[in-house]
Order: sequence, then C-alpha cells, then structure tokens
Amino acid sequence: MIELDDDRTYEIHDYKTSGHLPSQQDIDSNEQLALYQIGLQNIWNDTKNVRLIWHFVMFDKEFVSCRTDEQIAALKARTIQLIETVENDKEFLPKESGLCEWCVYPDLCPKRRHLFKTEDLPANEYLNDDGVKLVNTFASLAIQKKKHQEKIKTLDEEIDKVKEAVVAYGERESLDVINGSDNKLKISKKQKISSPSKGSSERKELEDILREIGKWDEVSDLDIYALEKLVNEGSLDNAVFNKISKYLNITCKKSVSLSKLGGKEK
Ligand code: SF4
Repeated sequence: MIELDDDRTYEIHDYKTSGHLPSQQDIDSNEQLALYQIGLQNIWNDTKNVRLIWHFVMFDKEFVSCRTDEQIAALKARTIQLIETVENDKEFLPKESGLCEWCVYPDLCPKRRHLFKTEDLPANEYLNDDGVKLVNTFASLAIQKKKHQEKIKTLDEEIDKVKEAVVAYGERESLDVINGSDNKLKISKKQKISSPSKGSSERKELEDILREIGKWDEVSDLDIYALEKLVNEGSLDNAVFNKISKYLNITCKKSVSLSKLGGKEK
C-alpha cells in the first residue's frame, strides 16, 4: 500500500504475518520495499522522501526504514548485475528452500518429485519403491561403514603407537631392520616438507629463490583443486571459462550423499 503524507513523504506499507520479529538491522538491509521505492521513483518525479514501513500484524508492531540516495543507487546496480547474471545463465537448477512447501510443481521438480510420488503410498508399496529401497540400502551400508571406520581408526591409533615404539627401538639399538617371527620391519627416513602459506612474504621469497636457481618448473604445479572449486562455484565468467576449458579435461562426476529425513518416519 502507498500513502502520501502531509509533509509530501511517500510511505510504502507492507503487512507481514510472520511469527518472528526481525531486527532493525534486518529491516534496514531488506531489499523488497527498497525495490518498490525504486519502482515508485521511476513512475513519479516528486518521490524524494520515502519511508518504508513494515507492519508485523501478529505483534501489532511497525518498523520504519529510510534509504539514502547512495543506498538506492547501490541496490539498483546490484539488481542490474543480478539480472545480467540470470540472463546469462544457461541452466536454471532447482534450489530447495522453505518455499518448496508452497510450490505447485513438486510433481515436476527433480528435488521433490520422488517425495511427491511416494509420500502417500501405503507402507508396503512405499518400502517396495525402487528409490526407497536404494536409499535404505545405502543408509544401512553407510552405518556399517561408519562402524568399521571407527574400528579402523582405533587400529590405526594402535599401529601408530607401535610404529613409534619401533622407531624408538631402532634408534636405541642402531637398527634399520627389525625381524619378527614371519615378518620384518624396515625403518626408512623421508623428509616431510610443508611450505609457507599462499600469499605470505615467505612464500614469495621461497618462490623467487626457486626461480633464481632454475628449479621453479620442477616444483611448481597448477592447483587443480582450487581451479575445480572456481569452475564448480561458477566464479569464472563465460569468456574466461571458454578460454581455459580447451586445456582441461572436464568430466561431470555425480556423487551421492546421505542425510537424515526431516523427522519423516516410515
Ligand atoms: S519444489 Fe522444486 S521447483 Fe518448487 S520451489 Fe522447491 S526446488 Fe523449486
């Protein structure tokens, strides 16, 4: 609702039925009514003074926020950039959120279709659904794996303790090989290296020295994990991605992860 005050200030009112009250900080950073303000200012040119007012009806409480010209300009720029990002996007993947509960397309959505298809099935049909069976098998194997991993962790800790004792024995007795009944243990030395963190001055000095002595090409390497992260996050723009993608072998590997259903029991 829009009102024009006696002092020629426009008021944009919105009524919320939420059961939670926001903080003033939430209100001041909320973009919804500020976007309405931009719309209003595009229609009329006497909209210099605008008050944004939220009515939280369950609490009979009002929140007011006013935006500076700079804040409105920054919001406009952010919104235009967002529109460009959306327009340049090739894929529009579904993203689950609290709004899914009100969505009218759960029968089409790859994230909700299985739930939609199975939630009202009788128990025997539900448990015979191929998807349900696969998830239940996966979950049971994951639990077994976790139990084994706990055992393996305990065994690893025991092995580490014995290793320490073996090394200490070898040092004490000046031995590189120690024999048992059917096996022998060889003690070898290998230097473990860790380097200064990326971006630190020590790292730069180390890199400079390696370049100076002509060893840089032997030790430098592309951080493929960091590159993969950039690609997956979509933080490379299309032009850059197209330029580098011909050098990369990009395959799409699907992974599955198990999580608890939100309180649903079957
Ligand atoms: S159900 Fe699917 S399409 Fe609907 S809002 Fe959720 S993620 Fe989006």
